Amino acid sequence: MSHRVSPKNVVADAGIQAGCWATLFGLRKRGGSTKPKAAQLTRREGAAEAAELAPYVHFGHGWYDLNYDSVTIDSCPSEKLPEYSEDEGVSPEVLQTIQAELEDLSPWLRELSLDIWHHPEIMYEERYAHDRLTEFMASRGFKVTPHYLGLETAWRAEFTYPASDTHRKAKTRSTVHARVIGVNSEMDALPGIGHGCGHNLIAMSGVAVALAIKAALQKHDVPGTVILLGTPAEEAGGGKITLLERGAYKEMDACIMSHPTAGPANISGLWQGVALQPIDVEFFGHGAHAGLAPWEAQNALDAAFVAYASISALRQQMKPDCRVHGIIVGREWVPNIIPDYAKLRYMIRAPTYQELDALRERVIACFDAAALATACKIEIKVGAAYYEVRNNRILGREYSRLVGKMYGMRTDTSVGANYSTDFGNVTFALPALHPAYSIPTEPNGANHTPQFAKSAATKEAHEATLKVAAGLAALGFKVLQDADFTAEVFDEWKAGCGI
Ligand SMILES: [Zn+2]
Ligand SMILES: [Zn+2]
Repeated sequence: MSHRVSPKNVVADAGIQAGCWATLFGLRKRGGSTKPKAAQLTRREGAAEAAELAPYVHFGHGWYDLNYDSVTIDSCPSEKLPEYSEDEGVSPEVLQTIQAELEDLSPWLRELSLDIWHHPEIMYEERYAHDRLTEFMASRGFKVTPHYLGLETAWRAEFTYPASDTHRKAKTRSTVHARVIGVNSEMDALPGIGHGCGHNLIAMSGVAVALAIKAALQKHDVPGTVILLGTPAEEAGGGKITLLERGAYKEMDACIMSHPTAGPANISGLWQGVALQPIDVEFFGHGAHAGLAPWEAQNALDAAFVAYASISALRQQMKPDCRVHGIIVGREWVPNIIPDYAKLRYMIRAPTYQELDALRERVIACFDAAALATACKIEIKVGAAYYEVRNNRILGREYSRLVGKMYGMRTDTSVGANYSTDFGNVTFALPALHPAYSIPTEPNGANHTPQFAKSAATKEAHEATLKVAAGLAALGFKVLQDADFTAEVFDEWKAGCGI
């Protein structure tokens, strides 16, 4: 019998989400909902049934049906970035406007980025960043909604360049139906190491992209809307998943953001990343004097140890692209009292959500087995999963051309890094692009280290971020300006193909 997490016992538990760049180098219908929607809770009292494990699916990437409920292997083209059409891309005048705007804004953007860097805040506590960023966007002519959709530290900033009578008379597809481009600014830091993932740069980059698009719309008289979302809790908490479920992305035709990482200079990566599942497990036992009467105990630390060891054994049977990693958390442990409580915090990663589904069952079996072996009670909280990233190929092609043309930047589309992000879920809900890009780092100082936090504050990192922001702003402008391009982007998304 399969031993599945019951969807009946569902609790929201934002605290156990987790994501991002911990190790380095289906589609959702529009307006529908991601699965799983919220954290799931199961409580078992010791006895685990013999498990008939869910099978692994075909080890492919991104070939699933629109809602992830069934697996259909589609025929996505094999090339990562399709050939260019006749389209000549964004005009040199527009690129010049964008670059000039970013050059002008650079000192303010640097100040903003460093200010956020100096005030690191972890998931859902990004109050300083929230206030600083909303204030900044309001001062630059954006209509700001603070504390967006019931999330204290989420926010939204919108600018619309309206269609004029002249536009309406022109009656082109682009001017009659003005479009909406979305941009995301992440803000959260990591416990203990501050901005060790460089989200201060992401926050600043979102602002830069939105302001540069605004300048280009005004200067070149193109109607359209840019919506910048301040998205909390990427490292843990899945802020974008909650925003997605509450409709924050509904109006957007496409959404774009970027993420810094380590790597060779002047390189950008369109990588799929991996799906991620956070799981918290608590073992409840019975304490006893460790010397006098150990037979009276149900040892919760032993349960944690058995689970940890079982997962280590499982690792040998896992596919090479999968990861299971976690920690043991104690509570007032001393050696002469047998612990009556232990907690495990784990993350499971797999190339796709489908793979994750299969692996999750196997990991949960290890937890159950440990509870059975030690006669402890077990409580398992399964958080909302992060999907892998499905970068839109048409957006990717144009982005690659833009940053190549402007800065000679190379775009890498190889298999890429084992990172995870809640933006993955966004890429399943609408056409989206999430380029990673390199900033200079110390040896062994990639994401999630104090060394990377230092790198995220350098002038060189700032400059690399602005180059990518210019590319994304030009891309966003094209979505607003060119109806045919946006239709192609949407068709590609609908086909379920991605990189
Ligand atoms: Zn991270
Ligand atoms: Zn990150």
